[in-house]
Amino acid sequence: MATEWEPAFKVCYHCGSPEIEREAASVFACRQCGKHLFVNPVSAVAGVLVDAEERILLLERAREPAKGKLGLPGGFLDPGETGEEGLRREIREETGLEIGGVQYLGSFPNNYVYDGTTYLVLDLFFWARIESFADARALDEVAGICPINVNEIDFEELAFSSIKKALTKFRQEFPIKLAND
Ligand SMILES: [Zn+2]
Repeated sequence: MATEWEPAFKVCYHCGSPEIEREAASVFACRQCGKHLFVNPVSAVAGVLVDAEERILLLERAREPAKGKLGLPGGFLDPGETGEEGLRREIREETGLEIGGVQYLGSFPNNYVYDGTTYLVLDLFFWARIESFADARALDEVAGICPINVNEIDFEELAFSSIKKALTKFRQEFPIKLAND
């Protein structure tokens, strides 16, 4: 996958020369200034929030990519943030909810296509308990709030393959027996 991926930039981002050539899957070299251009995946975070009824929170996406599909609360990290801080911020911005401690679930790569450009992303997934989704609102980039039993999710409606993999892992590993198990 990685070697077939084409980066968004067409010129050296140090000197502006178009004379760049690939040296490895994630490394380009500029023949003009001699510097290397690294195109490693960026980090994003997403959270599986579990309420007292053992439901999780899916969000209907208000914007492309995958507009209308279901995702987890989360998003891209800001510079200097830890994954946990970024997750709390994104959950606050998207739903108004405040969460406490989070547990690491796992990570899955995601090719995120935005405005015609593919960005390589590593999605970091966490899970956290929350008493209730009653105060959740559809805020930033969210069209709808969808609490659901994790065993009742239609995986065809999920926005990204990384979310499908994370929820599959969550269903296998979640330490509390879910209602419909
Ligand atoms: Zn250059």
